[in-house]
Amino acid sequence: MSDPAPGLPDILTDGYARFRSSRYPGRRETYRTLAEGQNPPVMVVSCCDSRVDPEAIFDAGPGELFVVRNVANLVPPCDPSGDCGHDRGTGAALEFAVEGLGVGHIAVIGHSGCGGIRAYIESRGSVPDTPGFIGKWISTVRGAEARLPADAPKEGPGLQTAFECASIRNSLDNLLTFPFVRQAVDEGRLTLHGAHFSIGDGRLSMLDRATGEAVALE
Ligand SMILES: [Zn+2]
Repeated sequence: MSDPAPGLPDILTDGYARFRSSRYPGRRETYRTLAEGQNPPVMVVSCCDSRVDPEAIFDAGPGELFVVRNVANLVPPCDPSGDCGHDRGTGAALEFAVEGLGVGHIAVIGHSGCGGIRAYIESRGSVPDTPGFIGKWISTVRGAEARLPADAPKEGPGLQTAFECASIRNSLDNLLTFPFVRQAVDEGRLTLHGAHFSIGDGRLSMLDRATGEAVALE
């Protein structure tokens, strides 16, 4: 028999085989039900980083989390003209989650060692002139500058962590610039959360949007 997926790497073919033989049979009824529609209670905005998998962190199954992943888990501010050329994907996911699915929570999950945040720090001051896609995208992190604590380290891992947390808070503020998010929050239908995941020890800390205080979950 010929190979139905020539060139597909083993990590995908082997993983799919395990899904079909093990994971899927255990959730057959769940998948049958989900085929009729989804009703996830939570939207997660997470980084593309392969080490920060929301379904793994929250031990979630199919249908439980509505996830949008982008470089550095950013939510750029709403562009009222709708001509937000560099952010149509995230804006569309937000609109569908809030208006279409009626999620009750949006959680922005940042993480340690974020390459997107590091790229912003390294090109600080010259981001708008950076060629390619990444420079324009991570220019959104500029809004985090004003949210850095006054006593934030000026360089090194401390500055990186401070920026990661400030950027999460910036994205939470930007979420409120979307009229449908603001309305849902004001009507008590939607709650926003920010959290930072420490990859090395697998710990999640919740961030206070206003103060930036981080509290590790048990
Ligand atoms: Zn990242």
